Amino acid sequence: MDCIFCKIINKEKPTDMIYEDDKIIAFKDINPVAPVHILIIPKKHIPSVDHIEVQDKELIGKLFLVVQKIAREKKLKGYKIGINVGREGGQIIDHLHLHLLAGRE
Ligand code: AMP
Ligand code: ZN
Repeated sequence: MDCIFCKIINKEKPTDMIYEDDKIIAFKDINPVAPVHILIIPKKHIPSVDHIEVQDKELIGKLFLVVQKIAREKKLKGYKIGINVGREGGQIIDHLHLHLLAGRE
């Protein structure tokens, strides 16, 4: 499968890794739009929010716990979480990801 994020997960492509466990990874966005711009993604290739299935619900919850963990470690006072869904929703990479954004006025 030609998915850039799966290549990052499989270590076929280098990245600035922030967090990794057996189900989730987080890494710096290559083209940051805020001083802190981190992508949090499941290792499972789920194309978008529109493709989440009932059996993924625990995994989806864990994504948010990873956001919280990173925010605490980085002592962020506040942040935004963004998820683009579909081309018309601004999604470019078809592997579910949360944008964690902070430090922007
Ligand atoms: P989206 O528009 O929600 O699909 O966002 C995709 C994001 O992935 C964009 O913010 C890109 O800058 C980012 N991105 C693309 N390729 C890479 C990469 N190799 N490493 C890190 N971030 C990437
Ligand atoms: Zn993928």
